[in-house]
Amino acid sequence: MDRMIRCITTNGGIMAAAVDSTYMVATAQQIHNTSAVATAALGRMLTAASMMGAMLKKADASVTLKINGGGPLGSIIAIADSNGNCRGSIDHPEVELPLNPTNGKLDVGKAVGHNGLLGVMRDFGEGTPYIGQVEVQSGEIAEDITHYYAASEQVPTVCALGVLVDKRDIRQILAGGLIIQVLPGAFESDIAQLEKNIAQLEPVTTMLAKGMSIEDMCKKALEGFEMEILDEFPVSYVCNCSKERVERAIATLSAEDILSLADETGFAEAKCQYCNHTYKLSRQELEELAKISSQK
Ligand SMILES: [Zn+2]
Repeated sequence: MDRMIRCITTNGGIMAAAVDSTYMVATAQQIHNTSAVATAALGRMLTAASMMGAMLKKADASVTLKINGGGPLGSIIAIADSNGNCRGSIDHPEVELPLNPTNGKLDVGKAVGHNGLLGVMRDFGEGTPYIGQVEVQSGEIAEDITHYYAASEQVPTVCALGVLVDKRDIRQILAGGLIIQVLPGAFESDIAQLEKNIAQLEPVTTMLAKGMSIEDMCKKALEGFEMEILDEFPVSYVCNCSKERVERAIATLSAEDILSLADETGFAEAKCQYCNHTYKLSRQELEELAKISSQK
């Protein structure tokens, strides 16, 4: 079971969230049958969304991240609720690229691309959602999220994300993330200490591989501060699709398009893009949806 914790320094200056998202990413890999590099890219997006969702602090709020850097993976989407549970999708899960020649790692930056946009939508379940958009910097995702917070929300943030995929058996995964934010009450000396800590911080997957817990990771990032754990909770890959939601989505099409969905047997199949669950609709159901559509 994956876990997340949120911590704050006792002086109230810095907040940190850390997650072990190993099972979440392994589930995403199984559902979408992702290659190694696609697993890393989608996994980093899910890990970031999970932490950003948990930071929303409102029961029915959600965050949607969408990145498209013009690379061969296409668009990658990750949606998380305020409990940190999330789901995601990727246009081209099968794309595989050679390892990055300079560091020997999965070339997420090249697979995502760096000519495009990262969009962040925060929906608090009422009113208009908050939408922010920044240009993709490197396509490595953590750097892009950090840039988003600085450019769009003016919150100094450090985001570290890691997905380690075993070279021989890509089902062997280790994944996690850390987000640290400087709060409005922080002192200059807090920021200086934090920068020192960040400079010495090892990659998230190195820390996890050493057997460090998410608490250890937060302590390491907040070394020299007294900190308290705000909360701790399980997170996982969860899809909340239902036939009703699928029908609502279909009803947004034109009546003509809805009726054309039926195959020769009179049925239409709609597949959820996040969990691959298939919903079957009869001709009668399609006709009812077409009626709703034409009344709009
Ligand atoms: Zn689903």
